[in-house]
Amino acid sequence: PPDVEALGRGTWTLLHSIAASYPESPSMSQQSDLLSFVKLFSKLYPCWVCAEDFRTYIGREVPKVESRDNFGKWLCGAHNDVNRKLGKPEFDCSRWQERWRTGWKD
Ligand code: FAD
Repeated sequence: PPDVEALGRGTWTLLHSIAASYPESPSMSQQSDLLSFVKLFSKLYPCWVCAEDFRTYIGREVPKVESRDNFGKWLCGAHNDVNRKLGKPEFDCSRWQERWRTGWKD
């Protein structure tokens, strides 16, 4: 259904933008807030099959909240997991900041 796609596009934009604005050296309370957000998000995301698979992913790959780049790469891996499931091309996670924070250089 198209709204799962529009919801997904908008949500990935929000999630990758949160990674882009997350500190390079977050405090303990910022780290615990982000971890809580990811876990609550995985319970509340209004595409239930999507949310269930995302919770499974979180159980397998513990969210890395100790720095911006670690979280951005973890999130990129989560997005690639969905890309693989849907037969979409995988994204090169070494370039997540170019796409979501600094802008493409070429
Ligand atoms: P999207 O996948 O929405 O990506 C948007 C943009 O992000 C792309 O154009 C690209 O520039 C960039 N991008 C792509 N991959 C990455 C990456 N790995 N890291 C960083 N940037 C990237 N849909 C389903 O049908 N079934 C599901 O089970 C499902 N689970 C989902 C789980 C979550 C948590 C979310 C947020 C979405 C889920 N979706 C699911 C929606 C799906 O991922 C897509 O958002 C939707 O199919 C629209 O795809 P799109 O091709 O427009 O690009």
